[in-house]
Amino acid sequence: MLPFMLPLLAGLTIPVAATAAGPAACTKIATELGSAKVNANQLSTNYTNSLEYWNTIQDEYKPSCIVFPSSAQDVSVSLKAIRAAGSRFAIKAGGHNPNTFFSSVQAGVLLDLSSMTAKSYDPETTLATYEPGGIFGDVYEYFAQWNRTVVGARLAGVGTGLALGGGMSYLSPQYGLACDSFRELEIVLPDGQIVTASDKENPDLFFASRGGGGNAYGVVTKYTVQSRPIGEFWAGNLIYVADQRDSVIEAIGNFIQYNTDPKAAIIGTYEKLPLPDLNLNLDEAILMFLVYDGPNPGDAFKNFTDIKALIDTTGIKSYNEVVNMPVPMSTEISRGANMFRVGVHRPQNNSYEKALDKWRTWAEDNKGSYELLSIDFQPIPKSLTDASKAQGGNAMQMPDGPYFWLNYLITTPPGMTEAKYNAAQASYRDMIKETGNDEGLPLFINDANKDQNPLQTFSTFKKLQAIKKKYDPDNFFADYTGGWSFA
Ligand SMILES: Cc1cc2nc3c(=O)[nH]c(=O)nc-3n(C[C@H](O)[C@H](O)[C@H](O)COP(=O)(O)OP(=O)(O)OC[C@H]3O[C@@H](n4cnc5c(N)ncnc54)[C@H](O)[C@@H]3O)c2cc1C
Repeated sequence: MLPFMLPLLAGLTIPVAATAAGPAACTKIATELGSAKVNANQLSTNYTNSLEYWNTIQDEYKPSCIVFPSSAQDVSVSLKAIRAAGSRFAIKAGGHNPNTFFSSVQAGVLLDLSSMTAKSYDPETTLATYEPGGIFGDVYEYFAQWNRTVVGARLAGVGTGLALGGGMSYLSPQYGLACDSFRELEIVLPDGQIVTASDKENPDLFFASRGGGGNAYGVVTKYTVQSRPIGEFWAGNLIYVADQRDSVIEAIGNFIQYNTDPKAAIIGTYEKLPLPDLNLNLDEAILMFLVYDGPNPGDAFKNFTDIKALIDTTGIKSYNEVVNMPVPMSTEISRGANMFRVGVHRPQNNSYEKALDKWRTWAEDNKGSYELLSIDFQPIPKSLTDASKAQGGNAMQMPDGPYFWLNYLITTPPGMTEAKYNAAQASYRDMIKETGNDEGLPLFINDANKDQNPLQTFSTFKKLQAIKKKYDPDNFFADYTGGWSFA
């Protein structure tokens, strides 16, 4: 290890030089915004509460101070002070991105957006606005009073940073990704300027912000989006034991290829527990999420409901109940030493089945390296990519569906040594790399590991590089906060 680096958990290191600039930036911000919005007291409750991440390894990083802006103006003042001091920083909305330093920072300034929670609805235009603080569950609850919602997370507990990475919703087969419904964004640029991004104003910035990732072109301080109608849903979970695993993967493949009803959405999740296998198949379970926008799904899910499930929770539900499946607080319950990786496959050549087999073999060969392992199958039907195109297309310029994004999760056991943690992550990475992806398809930012460089898989990469250069010309964001590589 280089002598000027501080050791952190799991082999992560940061330059010591960053430690002097953080307090300087904090002092300046406190002078300008008032001390109530700036907290440097590591023992206080709102400091420690703010440091709750879905990847709990990140809870350990200690910012020099946490700033709680309440307006775009506050964010602008903060960015200018951070830049002047040369401090590292991070922007945190819901804190679910598991990649180190994407929304966490050691010895720098954490901009915690949780106080920015204003929302509005205009019944005439049916446009909705929300600020970046809070979780999608709160956003949905607000708009439900008009029987409307916004396209956002499938789990209530996830934060609004999701929309900047695209944003897969149960409503996406009908309306596209969350970012496809953006109509206007208020953005504080890296130099502190507050601008509007829309089809008419700064259209290049608007394009890049629709799925090109948070943390790159500035801080989004207000989202104006097309809201969508909601009523009754038919939805629930089916849980199968491992004996059904071949029938279920076949049903998932068929659903992706042949379902033509955009109101029907699924997630198929295979889970491995660390129990010894003993050839009893007790270490594997399959959790299906079935969601239909309407009370009667017809035959849309027949392939799944025909397979005998151990547990079946399907029935009529409100949207609030849908986004709290399988149980309320799932995002909170699943906090741990979590890391994501992503894959992308077309259904026609069965490469996704090979991915599942490879994942299962790795799981069986690496007992002890994980507390939980899962692989999620998330369909991108043609109706989704058509809906995206009809609204102008997003930063991925998504190729026509059907294909699907695979989300690979590894939760490592608590107390694992740094060496074992690094070895487990490297081995999981290699297995997924060897699995490979189908050609010509973008990797989904929201499920990607930093080392997968998802932006480079976008056909628009060069355009995004140029936009990044225009809005972050001196690499302030690129050099002082975490995020996706544009190199
Ligand atoms: C349990 C769980 C369920 C999930 N479900 C879904 C799902 O249904 N659909 C889906 O698409 N993804 C899903 N994801 C992935 C999720 O979209 C990403 O983890 C996303 O990064 C979470 O956003 P956040 O605001 O919670 O996290 P954060 O870590 O706070 O933010 C994510 C990134 O965006 C940046 N950012 C956040 N807000 C802003 C802003 N206003 N301006 C500029 N940059 C910003 C942050 O700096 C960070 O780099 C899920 C993740 C988890 C852990």
